[in-house]
Amino acid sequence: MSTITAIETTDIRFPTSTMLDGSDAMNPDPDYSAAYLRIITDAADGLEGHGFVFTIGRGNDVQVAGIRALEGHLLGRDVEELLGSMGATWRELVYDSQLRWLGPEKGVMHMAIGAVVNALWDLKAKRAGLPLWQLLGRMSPEELVELVDFRYLTDAITPAEALDIFRAAVPGRAEREQALLDSGYPAYTTSPGWLGYDDEKLARLCREAVDDGFAQIKLKVGGDIDDDIRRLRIARETVGPDIRIATDANQRWDVQQAIDWMRRLQPFDIAWIEEPTSPDDVLGHAAIARGVAPIPVATGEHMANRVMFKQFLQADALGILQIDATRVAGVNENIVILLLAAKFGVPVCPHAGGVGLCELVQHLSYVDFVAVSGSREGRMIEFVDHLHEHFLAPVDVYDGRYWPPLLPGSGGEMRASSRSEFEFESAERV
Ligand SMILES: [Mg+2]
Repeated sequence: MSTITAIETTDIRFPTSTMLDGSDAMNPDPDYSAAYLRIITDAADGLEGHGFVFTIGRGNDVQVAGIRALEGHLLGRDVEELLGSMGATWRELVYDSQLRWLGPEKGVMHMAIGAVVNALWDLKAKRAGLPLWQLLGRMSPEELVELVDFRYLTDAITPAEALDIFRAAVPGRAEREQALLDSGYPAYTTSPGWLGYDDEKLARLCREAVDDGFAQIKLKVGGDIDDDIRRLRIARETVGPDIRIATDANQRWDVQQAIDWMRRLQPFDIAWIEEPTSPDDVLGHAAIARGVAPIPVATGEHMANRVMFKQFLQADALGILQIDATRVAGVNENIVILLLAAKFGVPVCPHAGGVGLCELVQHLSYVDFVAVSGSREGRMIEFVDHLHEHFLAPVDVYDGRYWPPLLPGSGGEMRASSRSEFEFESAERV
């Protein structure tokens, strides 16, 4: 038996706003940050569980406080008990009778739970000597169903239906694992498209994306319609007709504005429009989806929880489902979101970028391919080439594809030197 002896949290911030990396119509100056935690035990193996919430700067200290509020569920606890029943552990955290008031199941506390859950999965995978995607992809359908809390979901998916989806994907699991190792997983790049970049840099980065083998790029839109038309023309002329161009408005528009704006961008053959309006507006997204068809609506990176994903799917309000590794309550909740996507026949194209999101979320796409949907068709993981050097297992992306990691763990462990170098000093706080 081993016991959790300490929870160490760190407020980590990278000064990315100085380069306008990550700039879009709603977030002009992000400082990519991580509210980071280490779960330390007294086990002789010395293994630690690492997890974090991605934020974009101010408020990262609030997110750290959210994680600290969960310490009572962790300190002194039997590690084998927590890791041995991750479904029960998830429910214990999410249904804390007092902390739940701060959501329920949304915002700072829910994301804090996600960091803790992901850190526990990191520890569990390290103890198993496997990367998280292989640990999950080799669990039995019954074990996977046990991870999921079906409360509020049974009008859309029942445990029996979930079991059927997992069981249907059992044949061919080993072949799909091998296929990932042999041929990777499709990626697309957002690097060319930040709003803060000038036209020359846009064209250069578009050319580089094609040279690097990407079949899709993404451009930020929604600041100014004439700028968007000019930038899309440059991008389309640079990449040619065969490369897909997606667009992302980062919640900038009202419903009718989104429809009108996208009709003007339609001539550039748009692969999808991402986050056209408030991430909470289910009916608004449904109206936009009807109004901009055949351009599909993509969303999910700011979706608070599994109940919202359920409603968006029930309302035909999205055509591309974008999970995020640190927005909802961790791996368990993302597994049921993958199940919902499979049930409704919608492809999952994860949100990534930021700091560490590529490292984490790739595991979930591989689990989707190996053990849930069984398909890579129409699916791809976002890639942004920033800050990977700070991780123990930086993503391996080349030829326009992600190549799966084999290092045991979740992929979310940041180098100790980076954690101390970029720890935010409270005196600097603004
Ligand atoms: Mg986005």
